[in-house]
Amino acid sequence: MLDLWRGRWYKRAMQRETEIIQINAIEPEPAIIERAARLLCAGEMVVFPTETVYGLGANALDARASERIFAAKERPFSDPLISHIADESELELLVGEASEAAQKLAHAFWPGPLTLILPAGPRVPGLITAGLPSVAVRMPRHPVALALIRAAGFPIAAPSANRFMHVSPTTAQHAYTDLRGRVPLILDGGPCAVGVESTILDLCAAVPTILRPGGISLEELRSVLPETRPPAPRKARFEHEAQKAPGQMLIHYAPATPAFLFEGTPAAMRAAMLAEVVRRQQQGERVGVLVADEDIATFHESGACVYSLGSTPEQIATRLFAGLRVLEESGAQIILCRNFEERGLGMAIRDRLLKATGGRVIRVDG
Ligand code: AMP
Ligand code: MG
Repeated sequence: MLDLWRGRWYKRAMQRETEIIQINAIEPEPAIIERAARLLCAGEMVVFPTETVYGLGANALDARASERIFAAKERPFSDPLISHIADESELELLVGEASEAAQKLAHAFWPGPLTLILPAGPRVPGLITAGLPSVAVRMPRHPVALALIRAAGFPIAAPSANRFMHVSPTTAQHAYTDLRGRVPLILDGGPCAVGVESTILDLCAAVPTILRPGGISLEELRSVLPETRPPAPRKARFEHEAQKAPGQMLIHYAPATPAFLFEGTPAAMRAAMLAEVVRRQQQGERVGVLVADEDIATFHESGACVYSLGSTPEQIATRLFAGLRVLEESGAQIILCRNFEERGLGMAIRDRLLKATGGRVIRVDG
C-alpha cells in the first residue's frame, strides 16, 4: 500500500508550498485561526500545536479529507487516527455511547493528554478507525488546538505531524522538516509543553487498559479508575497481527540513526556508555549520547555529541523527541541513550526510548 503513495500521482499531489505562520500559543489570533479553519472546511490539512506533539489535522467526519493525512505521512491505512474535540458535547458525533467510566475520565483529564478508545458511532468514517468498531477521542489542552477545532465546527482527526516511522514533532520546524511540500499550512505555536504523545486508554476492553503510555500516568488514571491496567508486555508489539493500537510497533518512532538503550543504575549506565563511546570512536565512528544533566560531566571531554534532556521527568519528556532529532542531524552514526525510572511520566519516556532504539537494550549491572 505504501508504494501507492510513492507513485507519480502522489508526487504530483504533494508538490505544494508550505507556509509557516507564527501564532500566539496563549491567545491565538482569531484571523489566523479563521484562515486555518477555512482550509480545514475546504477538506485541506493543517499542522497545529497541541500540548503533546504537533498534529496533522483534517476533518474527522470527511473520509476524503482524512485520506490526505495518510498520503502526507505515508502512513498505512491500518493505523487509525485520533479525533480531537473541543467540547464534550462533540463526543456525540463520534461515539456510540459514552460510559460512566468515560465521563469520569473526561471530567478528570480533559482537556489534556488522554485519548479514550470508545465504541464508534455511525458517522465516523471507517478510514479513521481502520475499520475497527472503536474510535480514539481526545480533547487537547492547547489553546490553538481548541480554537481551531471550535472554528472548524467539526472534530479534527490528527496523528502526529511527522512522516510515518519517524520521531514525533515537538516544534513547527520538526513538522516542516518531515512534511514540507505536503501540507499547505503549519501553525507555529512554539515548543510543545508535554512533549510525548497522549496516553491511550482502551475503554472497550473488559478492563480499562493502557494501549500506549503517555502524558497522563498510570497512577493518575488509577486515582479515577483503580482497575486500570498497564500496557501489555512490550514483546507482543513486535507482532504485526491485526493491531488495536498500531502506533505500538517498536520501530514506530525511530530516528534514522541506529540507537541503543542502556539500562542499570545511573553510575553503571554512565560507565558503560562512556566505554562504548571510547570503543566506537577508536573505530572512527561519530557517537551521539542522549543523557540527563547529572551525566553531562562524564561525557564532557569524551568527544561524543552530547544532548542532555534535563533532570525532572517533565523536562525529559519535553525534550526527548527534540534530542533524538538533534542527534540524528548531528551526523552521529550511532546514538546511545540512558534509561530513566519508570514511575509516572517515566513509563511514557521509557516506552518512547524503546521505540526509538527498536528494543535494542543493553543491561549493565552496578
Ligand atoms: P499517532 O501515532 O500519534 O497518530 O496516534 C494514533 C494512534 O492512536 C494509533 O497509532 C493507534 O495506536 C491509536 N488508535 C487510534 N484509533 C484507535 C482505535 N480505534 N483503537 C485503538 N487504538 C487506536
Ligand atoms: Mg505518531
